[in-house]
Amino acid sequence: MSSVPVYTKTQALAEAWRCLQCFDAPCIAACPANVHVPRFIRMIRSANWASAAEGLRSANAFVSLCGAVCPEDVLCRYKCSRGRLDNPIDIRALHRFVTSSVPPKIFPEWPRALGPQVAVVGAGPAGLGCALALTRLGFDVTVFEKESRIGGIPSMEIPRARVEQTLQDDLRAFAERLKIVTSKPIYHLADLQKFDAVFVAVGLGKTARLGIEGEEMTGVESASSFLRRTRENPSNLTDKRVVVVGGGNTAMEAALVALEAGGEVTVVYRRRQIDMPAWPEEVREITVGGTVFRFLEVPVRIVGEAGHVIAVDLQRQELGPVDESGRLTPVPTNDSPIRLPADHVIIAVGAIVETALFAELVRERGDHFVVNEKGESSVLGVFIGGDAVHGEGTIVAAFAEGRRIGEHIAEFLRKT
Ligand SMILES: Cc1cc2nc3c(=O)[nH]c(=O)nc-3n(C[C@H](O)[C@H](O)[C@H](O)COP(=O)(O)OP(=O)(O)OC[C@H]3O[C@@H](n4cnc5c(N)ncnc54)[C@H](O)[C@@H]3O)c2cc1C
Repeated sequence: MSSVPVYTKTQALAEAWRCLQCFDAPCIAACPANVHVPRFIRMIRSANWASAAEGLRSANAFVSLCGAVCPEDVLCRYKCSRGRLDNPIDIRALHRFVTSSVPPKIFPEWPRALGPQVAVVGAGPAGLGCALALTRLGFDVTVFEKESRIGGIPSMEIPRARVEQTLQDDLRAFAERLKIVTSKPIYHLADLQKFDAVFVAVGLGKTARLGIEGEEMTGVESASSFLRRTRENPSNLTDKRVVVVGGGNTAMEAALVALEAGGEVTVVYRRRQIDMPAWPEEVREITVGGTVFRFLEVPVRIVGEAGHVIAVDLQRQELGPVDESGRLTPVPTNDSPIRLPADHVIIAVGAIVETALFAELVRERGDHFVVNEKGESSVLGVFIGGDAVHGEGTIVAAFAEGRRIGEHIAEFLRKT
């Protein structure tokens, strides 16, 4: 994710005055949390920073984080009407300016405690969005997080410690009703029997594999393992020729980290550039950094020497019939495989929900959980949301969905 400009007050005012204040502002509809963008920008224009920040926080309690990592080029900014005149408004930078200048407000009065207790599994955006909606409505919530930190999948742009600090600051306002228990994995509903309702928001914890010869060799690893390792110790990358397999945001993020660490990076993707699911901003960033792209190729074998990867064999593809995702299916050609030298192979071909998690709940094709439009699962009182249901999305969409399901859980608890 590219860096967001850090505005001074004068710059924030100048940018805010460029906003056209559209009557039917398309930016609001483009935001999964329906943040009222023109209203918060209007408050900036009159230097009413506190109300601007309050307006943002009431729509999205994860606001400080979103101000840094929201993919605005595919959401609000993409739809900004000003873009048809010259440049769209830098909504994310304005957002970041107000939320970093004004600390969150502690609620002066809490609604009366209603009694029912809710458990949330996973302290990512979906889990926290749900927990915050319920605490605001008067329910006591306990969030269980398997890691020692909160926030779910971090973006590389903001260091982990800052993500954690930002979230803790945002969450202070909810401390009264919200208990977060870290380093506590939950795998079965039986462990949560004392709760009146459960929200499962465990994200996608497992990277899909290629299923080819040589994948177990040293020097071959999943993008999640690579990102985690380099995040913990940025000097942890010494390999020169890095091959990243995949065309999504995770692949782009891994490529960016490898580039920044001095690697010569090649991205291999099985379809064409226009088919890549990665956000254009992410692709642009690594292209500028000097990444080589190989499209319409698939790794068919990882070649090693003394147990360590030295090359990848790539099979050329052509596009065949449309598959169930609506995209053209890559089909192998008859050409002989091409050997690409590599010291390090990073696999980023998608992520799935961990198999051992909540075996009691129904899944689609053994992967994502199945729910109805209210987020209700196959078990009464158990709701599920976020990436674990829809596959990889955005922080703001996961947060907004958690909040919406939190309201359904409140409705369910009031009826029982
Ligand atoms: C590398 C990468 C970079 C990304 N960058 C961006 C970005 O810049 N901007 C953006 O908007 N989106 C980005 N995304 C997408 C975004 O992070 C996700 O869509 C979003 O985090 C999903 O939220 P979630 O709450 O559903 O799941 P997650 O964020 O994955 O959170 C799930 C949480 O549940 C915990 N958990 C899992 N199992 C258990 C268990 N058994 N018990 C207890 N806790 C458990 C996990 O530790 C985790 O904290 C990125 C994704 C990836 C993979």
